[in-house]
Amino acid sequence: MKMKPDTQFLHTGNEIDPLYGASSVPIYQASTFHQGFDDEVLYDYARSGNPTRAALESIIATLEGGVRGFAFSSGMAAITAALLILPAGSHVIACEDLYGGTFRALTRVFSRLGIETTFVDATDPQNIARALRPNTHAVYLETPSNPTMRIIDIRACASIAKDAGALTMVDNTFMTPYFQKPHELGADIVLHSATKFLGGHSDVVAGVATVNSDALAKEMYLIQNGFGAILGPQDCFLVMRGIKTLGVRMRQSEATAIQMAAFLKEQPQVHTVYYPGLKEHEGHAIHARQATGPGALLSFALRDEETVRAFVTRLKLPLFAVSLGAVESILSYPIRMSHAAMPELERQKRGITAGLLRLSVGLEDAGDLIEDFRQAFAGL
Ligand SMILES: *Cc1c(COP(=O)(O)O)cnc(C)c1O
Repeated sequence: MKMKPDTQFLHTGNEIDPLYGASSVPIYQASTFHQGFDDEVLYDYARSGNPTRAALESIIATLEGGVRGFAFSSGMAAITAALLILPAGSHVIACEDLYGGTFRALTRVFSRLGIETTFVDATDPQNIARALRPNTHAVYLETPSNPTMRIIDIRACASIAKDAGALTMVDNTFMTPYFQKPHELGADIVLHSATKFLGGHSDVVAGVATVNSDALAKEMYLIQNGFGAILGPQDCFLVMRGIKTLGVRMRQSEATAIQMAAFLKEQPQVHTVYYPGLKEHEGHAIHARQATGPGALLSFALRDEETVRAFVTRLKLPLFAVSLGAVESILSYPIRMSHAAMPELERQKRGITAGLLRLSVGLEDAGDLIEDFRQAFAGL
């Protein structure tokens, strides 16, 4: 039966505990498993595999349409595991609007291992074609990008990568499989910070990855088991619980985000609103083709740091914090938070200015949220 996403979030085949019929997957808080002397066992040691983690990994593989899923101790652990499958001396092409931590890992850690990255404006896929080298083994993308919501045509980029024999990796944290399924568009590896929408409640740090072939599954498993950055069973449970309500949360937050974007556009203090749901947003048409909705994240630019300080100080509802994708709205200040690790010059190139704020819309009443923003603007 071909299920709609809302049904699938609850029915991936992992919903009933095979042993006792429990309605949620038990937390197997065990580090090792007893073995009969001559038995072939499914689980031997919990870094290598744990039934709670296996359930989450199966769920995310089903949702993303991948061959196999992997759960890691953070989004960065998932991302670095994917990059660690590349051979020494590889060249990576990454979109220039990248999560700050991924930028840091590529420029300050992988560079030491002889893995060099070229950052390109991937909103024009030809820039990827132009940056290809004989040793280009991966094209790394994020769309919508962080924090200015630039849109990349996944299918076009993946096709260029494939022709060159390179893997396409897509960080799908902002969209989740509810809105966007990169494997269907040609991505080989899909990555998530499950800390965000998948977990959804600001109570767990986690990462997941899915792959589209058995060969890649073998490589990822080698890194997951070999480097050991696995997700613990309690945290696996929390991510699975979050996924059950992914559809309702994404729909509700998106509906409010659409209203917030319209409201922000009207405010004289707001210079620019970055939201893929706005018709005038660059890449709007491409996004509408590859995703089923604009999502719950938007950014907007005020004049400068002073204005941001006054505005944020007056706001009452959103959490002012690093992170996104939760039940509560979270406002973040990229230059000091997610993109603090990026050199200022790089930030400026990407429009990540001292006036830029990113809003992750939660589940508060839309009217209340708008009222809160209205009173904060009134004080500027
Ligand atoms: C948060 C985030 C990450 C890193 O995930 P952690 O769980 O914090 O390690 C990677 N990519 C994006 C788009 C993110 O928002």
